[in-house]
Amino acid sequence: MGRQRIYLSSPTMHGEEQEFIKEAFDTNWVAPLGPNVDALEKEMAAYAGVGHASALSAGTAAIHLALRILGIEEGDIVMTPSLTFSATCNPILYEKATPVFIDSEWDTWNMSPEALERAFEKYGTPKAVMVVHLYGTPAKLDEIMEICKKHDVPLIEDAAESLSSTYKGKHTGTFGKIGIYSFNGNKIITTSGGGMLVSDEEELTKKATFLATQARDPARHYQHSQIGYNYRMSNITAGIGRGQLLHLEEHKAAKKKIYEQYQAAFQDIPELSMNPLNKDGDANNWLSCILIKEDCKITPDIIMDALQELNIESRPIWKPMHLQPVFEKYDFVTADGSDHSVSAEIFNRGLCLPSDIKNTEEDMEVIIKTVRKCFGK
Ligand SMILES: *Cc1c(COP(=O)(O)O)cnc(C)c1O
Repeated sequence: MGRQRIYLSSPTMHGEEQEFIKEAFDTNWVAPLGPNVDALEKEMAAYAGVGHASALSAGTAAIHLALRILGIEEGDIVMTPSLTFSATCNPILYEKATPVFIDSEWDTWNMSPEALERAFEKYGTPKAVMVVHLYGTPAKLDEIMEICKKHDVPLIEDAAESLSSTYKGKHTGTFGKIGIYSFNGNKIITTSGGGMLVSDEEELTKKATFLATQARDPARHYQHSQIGYNYRMSNITAGIGRGQLLHLEEHKAAKKKIYEQYQAAFQDIPELSMNPLNKDGDANNWLSCILIKEDCKITPDIIMDALQELNIESRPIWKPMHLQPVFEKYDFVTADGSDHSVSAEIFNRGLCLPSDIKNTEEDMEVIIKTVRKCFGK
């Protein structure tokens, strides 16, 4: 075949990353913390337009600390979308709290405000609501925030997939009381692994940093009055992040181009549509996805197999949490109270296409041709 594998979304490095790392080596700032960590926090906060940031070892660690900071405890209810990656809700279980899974709506594939409202009616006021901006498309933040405000419930924003996406001109991750970003390997920028917790309240990011460094009380000896974690980002990792951040907008533009190319190429296939973009937002198009019309005999599996045959990576839509064996005992709430689940339908009929910004024009052509062929085009 000769051609290299075409990836879903792999790291794209530029060179500046190594300069920041070299500086860290040259000054022996290899051990945790140091100037790159401080600088990345400042640069990220300035980029997103948020007050403060705490650099952490993973997006999952940031979600866990967000829950800890908000005082989530055993039995507390946290409402979260069902259609997401498991890392959104695993930390709820770390704290033995109770997730209530909320169905998606069709306009953005994100948490349905109507279903959220129904969950509030059913359960009363939860301890927190966690929204996700799936595949980079901003959720219906106005509607969701209004519900949270009315009931005085803190909102956590899992913006792991949506760094650089905006809603009404403001960055996702900066609407909630706490926002989190991920720099995992396949995200829009990567530090090989890492995350960030952001907030306009300095007290909260300071608390995150404190808990992330073993919750050591101010004393000469090692004194602890709370359970801590080893969740801090290292100075080397932060150096990669500083180099990547310089290219974030460029990555966003390249992702948008991929989405638009797919959209144009599939326009004459009535059985296909692209994943939705929020009309009130500007998405980062982290992953471009397709949705196949109901009752079409072409399934996502057929397309995945056809791509795989040519060594092209694609990925199913996240399997909803309420359908996962590990979460099946927790409740799932739909907008109309019926068993009909939008998130399950998106899972059954959707597929994530290669969205790697290093893909060449020829790569895009092969992908597009292969998908079109599945529909007899
Ligand atoms: C990637 C991801 C996370 C987890 O981030 P890590 O940095 O991998 O821990 C959380 N939520 C969503 C929606 C993600 O896609």
